[in-house]
Amino acid sequence: MENQKWFDEMEARIPKGEVRTRFAPSPTGYMHIGNLRTALYTWLIAKSMGGKFILRIEDTDQERFVEGATEIIYNTLRTCHLDWQEGPDVGGPVGPYIQTERREIYGKYADLLIEKGGAYRCFCKADEGTVPVTLPNGEVIKKHQCSCASLSKEEVQARLDAGEPCVIRQKIPQEGTTTFSDVIFGDITVPNNELDENVLIKTDGLPTYNFANVVDDHLMGITHVVRGSEYLSSAPKYNLLYQAFGWEIPTYVHCSPVMRDSQHKMSKRHGDPSFEDLLAQGYLPEAILNYVALLGWSPGGEQEIFSLEELARVFDVHGISKSPAVFDMNKLKWMNAEYIKAMPPEQFAAVAEPYIRQTVKNPNLDTARIAALLQPRTEVLTEIPEKVDFFDELEPYPLHLYEHKKSRVNQELALVVLKYARAVLADLIKWEDEGIHAVLVAIAGQLGVKNAAVMYPVRIAVSGRAVTPGGAVELCSILGREETLFRLKAGILALTAERTIRNEEEDDF
Ligand code: GLU
Repeated sequence: MENQKWFDEMEARIPKGEVRTRFAPSPTGYMHIGNLRTALYTWLIAKSMGGKFILRIEDTDQERFVEGATEIIYNTLRTCHLDWQEGPDVGGPVGPYIQTERREIYGKYADLLIEKGGAYRCFCKADEGTVPVTLPNGEVIKKHQCSCASLSKEEVQARLDAGEPCVIRQKIPQEGTTTFSDVIFGDITVPNNELDENVLIKTDGLPTYNFANVVDDHLMGITHVVRGSEYLSSAPKYNLLYQAFGWEIPTYVHCSPVMRDSQHKMSKRHGDPSFEDLLAQGYLPEAILNYVALLGWSPGGEQEIFSLEELARVFDVHGISKSPAVFDMNKLKWMNAEYIKAMPPEQFAAVAEPYIRQTVKNPNLDTARIAALLQPRTEVLTEIPEKVDFFDELEPYPLHLYEHKKSRVNQELALVVLKYARAVLADLIKWEDEGIHAVLVAIAGQLGVKNAAVMYPVRIAVSGRAVTPGGAVELCSILGREETLFRLKAGILALTAERTIRNEEEDDF
């Protein structure tokens, strides 16, 4: 009676009449791309249906527990703006939201399930009772088969009183079939005698995933269960649990895995990047999330760039594909570059600043102006330090850089241009892009060469690089007059020395 009241209260807490989805990560210490996608789809289903998104931490596997891992989950979801309405930190009507804090709940429901005939205490040792069973398709699976289910109540109590360790196993009918429905995979029917009688409560009293997911999804009022397709084969067993309890079965949405290639699932253990790895590699969270949304879900049109709000508007679970999606780093790179280009300049400058400052230490150099040059040409943020290090210091560079067929520049002409440019720039009144540009174009006019034949050697002289973010004018402008004149002089000296050597060699001949 006492117990009945408790069960009634638990049932009474369950919110009704709203869409409720949950993200239920295990605290492993990092966020798999596949997990992030599950989180996103789960959030999108809730958002697009005006429902609630709930966060539940599945930490019953104590061996896998990693210190600080829950923080990583919070941070990832926050960084991605996947806000939750109920969870361990914000609470809610059906908590606690951390599984190890629900131990008592699982225990009571396991006892209830035993009473209802859906489970039994099993005293077999870990390696006992497992037998190979051949399925009709020839596949051999291992199943637990023992006689513990037929022990009398008194026998069970006596063994418990004697302190004998036991687990609680699911009792599965050996006849008939079980059918379950999945939004993506349709109806799947399996013969019951192919289903293993899994452990629901371990000897330490903690539940396995097999039990906890059903109890929690029911008690938390979850209407849509979104998770990886690795749980598909266990879904019939979960349905049998729901049925044994007399509970309503939620809508299942099982998502196919994210693959590294056609053969292999993406896996952190095999070196594939997690969400944190991608951030560290210079990808923007928004771009990662947008890309991940399209991994196995199609909006059904040409559009590929979606903000989170847009996704919430157009998302439809029926667009999720059954086939596994292959993670394409180049596509992500492209998308990241698109996000970078579309950022407001001030925002990009703020994001780029720490990367620029890795190599550009001179406080007089304006990182916002450098960022403006980088913005249209950056795919990932980690490219930045190496692209801009010349602003701080001009490294020795090979003089053949001055030779450029297309612009009809050779070292001879470069020397003339640099001397000219240095003389005129020294007298330029206002050190601004416009003035610098005018001066350099005027030199081209006077020398009777194309503008590029002036811009090119000046750019080499001030950067020592064949490829730079921005052209001669912008580089000079950012570097400032003094540094520009100094670098032009260095170029002039190097080219002069080279010419002298060349002439001497010719004389010797
Ligand atoms: N804790 C499980 C995992 O991280 C969750 C599966 C589920 O969403 O039911 O794989």
